[in-house]
Amino acid sequence: MLPFKLVYSDDYYLPIGAHVFPAEKYRRIHDRLLQTGVAEASDFVTPQLASDADILLVHTQQYVHKLKTGTLSAREELELEVPYSPELVRAFWMAAGGSILAAEYALENRVAFNIGGGFHHAFPDHGEGFCMIHDVAVAIRRMQRDEKITRAMTVDCDVHQGNGTAVIFAGTRTPAGPLPSTAASTLGSATKPRTRFSGDVFTISLHQENNYPMWKPPSSIDVGLPDGIGDDDYLAWLDNALSSGLRQFEPELICYVAGADPYREDQLGGLSLSIEGLKRRDELVFKVALARGIPVMVTFAGGYAQKVEDTVTIHCNTVIAASETFAAP
Ligand SMILES: [Zn+2]
Repeated sequence: MLPFKLVYSDDYYLPIGAHVFPAEKYRRIHDRLLQTGVAEASDFVTPQLASDADILLVHTQQYVHKLKTGTLSAREELELEVPYSPELVRAFWMAAGGSILAAEYALENRVAFNIGGGFHHAFPDHGEGFCMIHDVAVAIRRMQRDEKITRAMTVDCDVHQGNGTAVIFAGTRTPAGPLPSTAASTLGSATKPRTRFSGDVFTISLHQENNYPMWKPPSSIDVGLPDGIGDDDYLAWLDNALSSGLRQFEPELICYVAGADPYREDQLGGLSLSIEGLKRRDELVFKVALARGIPVMVTFAGGYAQKVEDTVTIHCNTVIAASETFAAP
């Protein structure tokens, strides 16, 4: 039995037909984890659909209305890069419900996975790049609304920059403000009262600079990597970004977006990480979080390896890395 939960639903399947996005990967990850004995059936929990109220914590009323009534414009559907259907809307609501549940479990058990999600290219008012709803942002906002956390950090290791994440949380950052760790007595009247959603979501994105999205709105920390970077350089940059972020900010939850697409055989990526290097990446994130006692919620985001099996392996390895790191001493 794993020392954490895996949130999964067969309804994560994205009904998008023949597509570079391997919509069946979620089921295959689920099956592989069971077949290889990494997980047992009891390690999995089934999410509920996110409510519209949850989605509206991040997305605009107008965009949600368009999704629910099938009234996206042709341009908006094109930008989404997946064919609209009511079933697809349901799959994204389910992914968001899964990330909410995974965040709740992470706060309880130090780590939890959504075997899906990580749709980091969704914006408040539109979707792009296969991402309709920003499940991670929805989960963070729900945890804040429920007063389970006030501060979160996103650590986005998908090969593509987390543009939606950067925009969603940009308006709520208070970069000039004192960090929560600063002694209150020294702050006096300079301290602005924090409203419930005054933000404090610190965003880190480690990505290939020369790749989608063309426009990269600023994250709190962006590491735009050169083409073809390999395991050791990547890990050094990640280590750096994590140390720097955690020097500036004390999150109560890390949302790790564990994209499989920095892999050297990815069809939409131009970095050169090996399968082993990607597992070391996962271990690094988990070890840092564990050492500092910060819970981690994991989502899977992209992965377009020439062989779908490789994408499944990389995602399953993230679960294995967590089980090794968080195994009871
Ligand atoms: Zn990606």
